[in-house]
Amino acid sequence: MHEEREIGVPSQRYVDICLDGYEAFGFDENYLYEALNISLEETGTTAAKVCPHCGKTYTGHPALSRKDNTTPICPDCGTLEALEAAGIPKEKQKKVLETIGEKLAEKPCK
Ligand SMILES: [Zn+2]
Repeated sequence: MHEEREIGVPSQRYVDICLDGYEAFGFDENYLYEALNISLEETGTTAAKVCPHCGKTYTGHPALSRKDNTTPICPDCGTLEALEAAGIPKEKQKKVLETIGEKLAEKPCK
């Protein structure tokens, strides 16, 4: 049970796994997006968006791409762009992102 998540809102990981299955079986992904948006709408959570950089679905506040300062992107891509701008090598960027994910899973933001 994930107490930090609203009842009826699937996790990002669950949605990603479903999307993989939809793609593998050739299902229309729009049905999944529509169902997700209904869940989010009914629980008062922000609508799901697709990141134009990585193609993943995400909810919540987007990051602004540093490339044009106008394109909303997922928080992970926002973090990667920030690490890139800070001169962090690509091989370390992924490790930083994994560590952030692990720490957030240990201590969810309140
Ligand atoms: Zn992204």
